[in-house]
Amino acid sequence: MSGVFRRVTGEPVIAVSGEGAWVEDVAGNRYLDAAGGAVAVGIGHGDTGVAAAMQRQAAQLSYVHAGVFTTDAVETYAAELARVLPVDDPYVFPVSGGAEAVETAFKLARAHHVACGDPGRHVIVARHGSYHGNTRGALDASGRDPLRRPYEPWLGRTVHVPAVYEYRCPHQAHPDRCGEWHAARLADTLDRIDPATVAAFIAEPIAGATLAAAVPSDDYWPAVAKVCRERGVLLIADEVMTGFGRTGRWFGVDHWGVRPDILVAAKGASSGYWPLGLCVASGAVHDAVAATGFVHGYTWSHHPVGAAVGSAVLHRLEEGGLVERAAVVGERLRHRLADALAGAAAVGDVRGRGMLVGVELVADRATKAPYPRAARITEQVVAAGRRRGLLLYSSTGHLDGDGDLILLGPPLTIDESEETMIIDRLTAAIGDVVGAHP
Ligand code: PMP
Repeated sequence: MSGVFRRVTGEPVIAVSGEGAWVEDVAGNRYLDAAGGAVAVGIGHGDTGVAAAMQRQAAQLSYVHAGVFTTDAVETYAAELARVLPVDDPYVFPVSGGAEAVETAFKLARAHHVACGDPGRHVIVARHGSYHGNTRGALDASGRDPLRRPYEPWLGRTVHVPAVYEYRCPHQAHPDRCGEWHAARLADTLDRIDPATVAAFIAEPIAGATLAAAVPSDDYWPAVAKVCRERGVLLIADEVMTGFGRTGRWFGVDHWGVRPDILVAAKGASSGYWPLGLCVASGAVHDAVAATGFVHGYTWSHHPVGAAVGSAVLHRLEEGGLVERAAVVGERLRHRLADALAGAAAVGDVRGRGMLVGVELVADRATKAPYPRAARITEQVVAAGRRRGLLLYSSTGHLDGDGDLILLGPPLTIDESEETMIIDRLTAAIGDVVGAHP
């Protein structure tokens, strides 16, 4: 009998070690980690340089309260991050994960408006088909019904606009000017609820956990930034999944040259070596709030060991040229996977950017009709992948409860033979479940 309140049902596999793109279990089975855990491991498992940086910092100074002290580790990390962050004059508030970073961003947006003498602004606007975390505020922003449903009585303050989902775009003239159409929907929504009450709009640059790498059309982000700016609404880019090179640029918004007022990141920031999240404020937002003080913080925020890990991961990404590599290898991976799955009747779409690749499974390619949820296609593909030594990230239920999505987010370090293994094993795993391809 285990005393662990586990996240998995059934007999769990005990993982014992990891190196590069591989995880090994207690029985000696090796798994190619095409999921990067939860699309989190950018630099690969088992990096001894990061482990050494962590050890050095923990031995020198493991922890002080950020309400009393700052540390070299945190100051250095913030200065280094400024090299890559797509935020003007950035100020970094380090926390322990994505949801904490999102909650920090919401409170910061609100505090900013209050400090600016605009206390009527409190509403958060987000998108359907999004994921921002599992704490109450972040869950309320998340447009993902299966996660929300048990907690609905607590939710409902966030206003949602349509999902940005090119494969099933609701815009009638798709693919022409979808981005502008979505920006107009956002403008309509803001104007309907009164923009003077809206604090911020939050969105993932490329929708990850809920829509499996749904990339917006190129006109989307510039148009959305303009709508927010014109109405005094702060733009929060949720880069928890897309940040730190995952999509082949340092941050997702870099693909479109957009600079958010607030940016949140986590996952790839530490690559899993430490529970690290970041809320980054522009200088303008920071300065406005600093005048009155930002009443916020966690015991573990501004953690020196987390900062040392963040710096070491940043160096590894820079020195290894891993962001540029993710662009090249990711494009090739996506195209090769799309070719390999071209004959698979159950594969409706292969999409993504860089090392974030999504596969949507459908019962009927022509109509895009999903499998019934009861068929548990995704779960079966994930299990088949596991049997074949491949770890996959997945998502279900995005289509009114139905919907089957597989997400690939391997370490940015994978070599060509690992890339081929991912393609071969995923193609075979899908075949195991829905039959061999014609
Ligand atoms: N935002 C996005 C875009 C995410 O993908 C996630 C995690 N999947 C989160 C927020 C929440 O991060 P965490 O699980 O670290 O709280």
